[in-house]
Amino acid sequence: MPMPLEPPKIGDDMLLARYGFLPQSTHYVRELLLKNDITIEQLINAAWLEDIRSRGRIRLVESILHKGGIDAVTNIDLSTDIGKMTEALSFLHAMLVVCASFDERLLARWIEGESSRADQLLGMDKENFLIVANSYLSGIREEEIPGSESIFWIPMSDFIELCPRISGDYWRLINRPVKDGWVSMTAGVGETSRQRTARLIKERIRENLIDICSQRMEKMDDEFAAQFSDSVERIIGLFSEQVHAEMPISAAKRTEWPPCFELAVSELNQGINVNHTGRVFLAAMSRSMGHSQEETLSFFSNAPDYNADTSSYQINQIYEREYTPHGCSALKTGARCPVQRGDNSLCDQDWMSHPLKYLRAKQRQRHNENIIES
Ligand code: SF4
Repeated sequence: MPMPLEPPKIGDDMLLARYGFLPQSTHYVRELLLKNDITIEQLINAAWLEDIRSRGRIRLVESILHKGGIDAVTNIDLSTDIGKMTEALSFLHAMLVVCASFDERLLARWIEGESSRADQLLGMDKENFLIVANSYLSGIREEEIPGSESIFWIPMSDFIELCPRISGDYWRLINRPVKDGWVSMTAGVGETSRQRTARLIKERIRENLIDICSQRMEKMDDEFAAQFSDSVERIIGLFSEQVHAEMPISAAKRTEWPPCFELAVSELNQGINVNHTGRVFLAAMSRSMGHSQEETLSFFSNAPDYNADTSSYQINQIYEREYTPHGCSALKTGARCPVQRGDNSLCDQDWMSHPLKYLRAKQRQRHNENIIES
């Protein structure tokens, strides 16, 4: 089931500016450009539009640095005309820069950031939720529950098309209540029904942004794209650095594990209770090390309060949301760093701020030793 051919009309400019990716926002943005006499050349160069470009750059950088999404909270005052213009045109500027890069990976990363931001915003937006949902789904029904949060129902055809792209038991049709062709998006995984539905809508937003950007890139000639070359160069440089930093850590040997990870694994294995920080760290670190959810779950199997269902659910949350493991200072504060100065020369390094750095350093060392021996 595709997106509605005729999305509901939206007359609220603040809403159109906040959700710049909405199909209805295209007309609003075009009008904004016309009314303010702004050409694309001005959007790229004019001094008076620097704030807009700068907001666009921030959105781009955030989507690159935080795969899990851009900060949904903006300090831009959308009740003012300038605020609305900044928000709407910064989205356009960021999209043009990404399209002008013709870099598929950068495009995918930006779209992931923007659609995650939309997911967060929408999940909190009681007032506008239905109209935005109706712009992306073929229908939505709200079941009001007295004294509690509403439960949303969506057409089975939308659910079936979108759910395979999301991991976790919640998203299997067999686990969803269904009635007369409608699927109940009950609260779950620590989220309200609205937040769960927003997660599903995120997939439609992503799909729609891919279509919009592909069309733009098809129409974009070299001369037009060259106007964005400075911004493209900067963002591609940053993106390459980030991709390098996120290179998957493969096949970490136990001797390479940082002491904090080793401690959490061995304490749980011995049936010692590990605090909340330690458990979240263990699961997130294990994910970053490339372990499967089943492998991560096995670390918890001797925990004194082990419950397979609860642990699987919590681990799934961490994997689905791509939690980043705690850094050294948080682990020290949470009493999860076992080393004292002098115990471990790598942990003593001034630059040692994160257990993933420890692991990378160990793996680099192994790699270099292998080269020397071969
Ligand atoms: S210094 Fe950092 S990497 Fe080393 S054990 Fe402590 S928390 Fe882990």
